[in-house]
Amino acid sequence: MKAAPEVQKRLLDLAELDSALDRLAHRRRTLPELAEIDDQSRRYAKLATEVIEAETEAGDLAREQTKAEADVDTVRTRIDRDQKRLDSGAVSSARDLSGLQSEITSLHRRQGDLEEVVLEIMERREAADARVTGLLARRDEVRTTLSAAEARRDTALADIDKETGEVRSRRAAVAEEIPADLLKLYEKLREQYGVGAAMLQAGRCQGCKVALSIAEMNHIKSAAADEVLRCEECRRILVRTDASGL
Ligand SMILES: [Zn+2]
Repeated sequence: MKAAPEVQKRLLDLAELDSALDRLAHRRRTLPELAEIDDQSRRYAKLATEVIEAETEAGDLAREQTKAEADVDTVRTRIDRDQKRLDSGAVSSARDLSGLQSEITSLHRRQGDLEEVVLEIMERREAADARVTGLLARRDEVRTTLSAAEARRDTALADIDKETGEVRSRRAAVAEEIPADLLKLYEKLREQYGVGAAMLQAGRCQGCKVALSIAEMNHIKSAAADEVLRCEECRRILVRTDASGL
């Protein structure tokens, strides 16, 4: 394959721009914010589940409290009713009075027991509510951290995309200067080896860093300037410049 030496040199510019694109793609994939977002998202999901569990427990206890308070009310109503009968003087027999008295006494005992149940539920409910509040605060804190990381990621990605766009248009301009067959070879090698063209610098291929033998150097010296050469070692297009040591 043949191409003017100046065109061959443009392959080095193309390779440099392709390396820049590779670095940008790598930066895109390995942004530290991505790992942080992953981590914080997991923490957020875990806390969100814990919030739901704690809220369910607090809700159950609230219902339990309402029910226990209703039980207390029922007993209190019966006490009031008995007390009214007692106070009304309608019950006159000593036996009935004594029966009513003892019923009121036992209802008071029952009321005391039920009120203790209410208190115990209230304590558990208070603890559950406090847990909900604490978990909500932690969840919101993680949400804030997560949002900040997402914003930093978006800024970084926008920067990378902008730079990528700029490099791509510079690359397109360089690629236009290169004949189709040479560009095709370059692309094929780039796909295979990551870098399609390398400079011969001071007798060394900059693609694989291997020093060329005297025989290879002699072969290159005798080759026509427009001959497209390949590195024997890495098969990349070997581009001659003033710094090649020829
Ligand atoms: Zn090489």
